[in-house]
Amino acid sequence: MTPVKISELETKLFINNEFVDAISGKTFPTINPATEEVICEVQEAGAEDVDKAVAAATAAFQLGSPWRSMAASERGKLIWKLADLMEQHSEYLEELESLDNGKPLGRQGQYGTKVDVALTIAIYRYAAGWCDKITGDVIPVDGNTLCYTRKEPVGVCGCIIPWNFPLAMQSWKLAPALAAGCTVVMKTSEKTPLSALFVSKLIAQAGFPPGVVNTLSGYGPGTGEAIVKHPGIDKIAFTGSTLTATNILKNAGLKRTTMELGGKSPVIVCNDADLDVAVEMCHVGLFLNQGQCCCAGSRVFVQDTIYDAFVKKAATKAQAMKIGAYTEADADHGPQVDDIQFKRVMGYIEKGKSEGAMCVVGGSRHGSKGYFVEPTIFTNVSDDMTIAKEEIFGPVMAVMKFSTDEEVVIRANSTMYGLGAGIMSKNISRALGLANQIRAGSVWINSYDDFSVQAPFGGYKASGHGREKGKEMLDNYLETKCVFVPLDGPKC
Ligand code: NAD
Repeated sequence: MTPVKISELETKLFINNEFVDAISGKTFPTINPATEEVICEVQEAGAEDVDKAVAAATAAFQLGSPWRSMAASERGKLIWKLADLMEQHSEYLEELESLDNGKPLGRQGQYGTKVDVALTIAIYRYAAGWCDKITGDVIPVDGNTLCYTRKEPVGVCGCIIPWNFPLAMQSWKLAPALAAGCTVVMKTSEKTPLSALFVSKLIAQAGFPPGVVNTLSGYGPGTGEAIVKHPGIDKIAFTGSTLTATNILKNAGLKRTTMELGGKSPVIVCNDADLDVAVEMCHVGLFLNQGQCCCAGSRVFVQDTIYDAFVKKAATKAQAMKIGAYTEADADHGPQVDDIQFKRVMGYIEKGKSEGAMCVVGGSRHGSKGYFVEPTIFTNVSDDMTIAKEEIFGPVMAVMKFSTDEEVVIRANSTMYGLGAGIMSKNISRALGLANQIRAGSVWINSYDDFSVQAPFGGYKASGHGREKGKEMLDNYLETKCVFVPLDGPKC
């Protein structure tokens, strides 16, 4: 069924608009998570390849270079052209992403790479429109002085992304960085390097000058650290775990940083919620992408009077999911991305059982080949259990009981994270009141996982700093220069 031909995949490093081997010649395998088989070997960037990529990005950023001389509206046209090319190849991209990551295609209305590719194209188009609308201010300072600000690109950006939404994560950094006029050295996740390399081919085809975008495959401690420590990099934009972020912040020195990190997001289901809507939203909020979402609604607080009814419906829905490889058209639940994540998730399920939570659905591996974990729901979960505290990043829902709004706000906020939250209630005043009290970057009322490209996304507390998507995404890639001109002649 797939037009993806393994022998034609891009597997090299993308530097200066060319695909090149790693200087060391080292490669690493990328795995099909549904079959556990190696798809292909990919070139692994070492510190010397990072040097080459940074040199290319630095040259492309020099004043007078084709990129820096280009009119802002022309930058917009290039980004729009990239989106057009992605659209022309959208089915190919969907299949490549599903092959490398394991997620369903979602061509029958369920979630899958079809949605990811559409959202990815949308953010490039949204960013394209911003290029010639980035403006400073004229500031009314005291005295006869013209004072104005200019917004300038921050420079060479080192971007490091995870594996859960490879194409989307690439776009959430590339789109605003390019709109702002920066150049980029991006490291993709060692678990899912393939789709970003195909997009890199389209970047060259679209006509971006050499060196503007450089894409490296490799591991965190090798390739990633070399980027973070490189003196030629002005800014690090990172998405990944809070643990890795702590490490990166130690290594980045005085470089600018933005961090999109993990979460343990609460969903509050009030007794006046539409129960079917609440069950649907909690289901999507947790099981979307096999639970591998930074904002997964993994702590579901249900008010005591509707707790049993909620659990019954939620369990029926989880049980009905069709588990399978992306090659099965109606599958809506794929494998975890690799053996490491599979074992991690299974470890949390065992921990839930051993700490006394009740597993009402799932709780086991599905089949004997591929990293499939059954959609799992635990009840009788208390706030101090491991599954209620730590980010699992898998299809494991913890359902807890609450009595009053005052109590649930305190419990929902009792976490180091603050990425997402859901509130299910037909009483809009109550829902808005709760939304105001939850410390999280996104709150979805009677919905969940709305990722409109025009809306900002990011975390409070240990879930990170900076916002992606929306007009705020540009702030991550711009410096503000303030210029003073005394209008009565020079001031000495
Ligand atoms: P990770 O932190 O293990 O890895 C992320 C990236 O960092 C990978 O490319 C990895 O190779 C690299 N890396 C690892 N160690 C490094 C180091 N020492 N120096 C430089 N780079 C290093 O995370 P992951 O497992 O790929 O992704 C899952 C995590 O990402 C979860 O915690 C999830 O919540 C988070 N996430 C957050 C968002 C968001 O927008 N907030 C989105 C997606 C994922």
